[in-house]
Amino acid sequence: MPATRHWVDLDHRHCWHPFTRQGEWCADADGTLVITHGKGSWLFDSEGRRYLDGNSSIWTNIHGHAHPQLVAAIAEQAALTAHTSFLGFTHPKAAELAEKLCQQFPVNTLTRVFFSDDGSTAVECALKMAVQYRMQSGEAQRTRFAAFANGYHGDTLGAASLGGVNRFFERFRNHGYTVDHVDSIQQLDTLDTTQLAAVVIEPLIQGVNEMRPWPTGLLARLRQWCDQHGVQLILDEVMTGFGRTGTMFACQQEGVIPDFLCLAKGLTGGSLPLAATMTKEAIYEAFLGGAERAFYYGHSYTANALGCAAALASLDLFEKEQTLDRLQPRIAQMQQGLAALKAQHPIVHEVRQCGFIAGIELRQPDGTRFPSESRVGEAVCRALRQHELLTRPILDTLVLMPPLCTSAEELDHAFQALNAVFSNNPGIDTRPAST
Ligand code: PLP
Repeated sequence: MPATRHWVDLDHRHCWHPFTRQGEWCADADGTLVITHGKGSWLFDSEGRRYLDGNSSIWTNIHGHAHPQLVAAIAEQAALTAHTSFLGFTHPKAAELAEKLCQQFPVNTLTRVFFSDDGSTAVECALKMAVQYRMQSGEAQRTRFAAFANGYHGDTLGAASLGGVNRFFERFRNHGYTVDHVDSIQQLDTLDTTQLAAVVIEPLIQGVNEMRPWPTGLLARLRQWCDQHGVQLILDEVMTGFGRTGTMFACQQEGVIPDFLCLAKGLTGGSLPLAATMTKEAIYEAFLGGAERAFYYGHSYTANALGCAAALASLDLFEKEQTLDRLQPRIAQMQQGLAALKAQHPIVHEVRQCGFIAGIELRQPDGTRFPSESRVGEAVCRALRQHELLTRPILDTLVLMPPLCTSAEELDHAFQALNAVFSNNPGIDTRPAST
């Protein structure tokens, strides 16, 4: 049996994929790609075909796949130990990484790092810290959170209760934290702010909300609002962190220091699952003073040594390869490419960009949305595969956010692929992808 078919059969028999209509997935043997390896901004499948990694492997990859320095750092650490408990011990890579992360921010601002595994756990941890901090600071009534409509902060129960995307979260609305969902800072004023522990936001751009940037200045105004009302600010930089918006962190663009900063995805350059929740010394100090004040939270793989080694190597690469400086012309090129797509193709209703993150929203030429059952975004992404570009849509918005190391030629390749699909398929096949 050819290898591809073998792996697809095994997957269809035993695997369960995230955010996936499993029935369709298992019925689509020919459409199942088996990705076997990557190099730089490219991914390769089991049939030897290549694809530009157009969404950085779900918004994680920074320096490219199989970067020799990341591979070496992981191998070197694996030869020492892949993992040791962070309960009652420490290890060199975690200690060094915590210091390096704190050094990314002005002295004495974010000084403490709590490690976990994924974006959701980074957020989960910030929420628990925020609530327990209030309990230990004489403000136990502050148990509520405010979050923004259409926001996304992960899928564990606490993080999911912040979520504002109904199609994902409505089933679980009665579980988790009590959360007020708001559309604007003005709407925050309508809440009983004495009950609020913290406000949570994806700074500069909402990702899962079809890549929608916030108006400039909103983040700085939110920081002011929080300060005026004694409410903490949790920034979820799970997507925006590590250069994706053009600066190392999105909050730096508006000079904002949060009370809690959630990092994951790009922390290891996209190579391994590791997350960090950063906070200020004054918050940390409220957890000192005995067992009853300790933070009882943790995961078996907290501060995993391989992940920490990869994260240190990734931060090193930012300096060595001048990742952020080299990214600036690519951001400008992306802006031009998006403008040209919008000008040339009536199906492109709107292009949205924040740094090296873009959303290309497709609509019918009269500006109305395609019927949801036609799943145009999915059909277009499937057509893009034939042009060596791999990405996923959010509804009918195509995500374009390749690794930060993507070259001018590679970015051109992505736009050529998009142009080819929009030009060759003026009517775009709007049947569901699996029919
Ligand atoms: N927060 C934001 C802004 C995200 O975009 C995501 C994932 O896309 C998460 C949290 C959850 O991260 P993870 O999937 O690593 O749990």
